[in-house]
Amino acid sequence: MTAARHTFRWWPVDGGRHAIPGELQPGQPGETLCHRPFTRSCGEPSKLEWLWPTCLACYDRARGRTHVSRADLGPEPGPHPAGDLSSRSGSWTPAPG
Ligand SMILES: [Zn+2]
Repeated sequence: MTAARHTFRWWPVDGGRHAIPGELQPGQPGETLCHRPFTRSCGEPSKLEWLWPTCLACYDRARGRTHVSRADLGPEPGPHPAGDLSSRSGSWTPAPG
């Protein structure tokens, strides 16, 4: 039982861009928000991987969570900074259709 708001971040897994728990550390096994088991790699995903189609199940579940980036990981998740999306290669929008 925790009142803390759950966090998430986007991560390329198995050909799709899934949402993973924000607290998951590199090298730590876990599962995506659509319950796909995976182990977070220690390296950075490539630009190509960020272009993979967004998992709609993860997209739907992530809406109830707070997005975090690597730098934001702290005890107090703040409001989403404006303009954050433009500085990243991955975007929040799901694939059309
Ligand atoms: Zn997913």
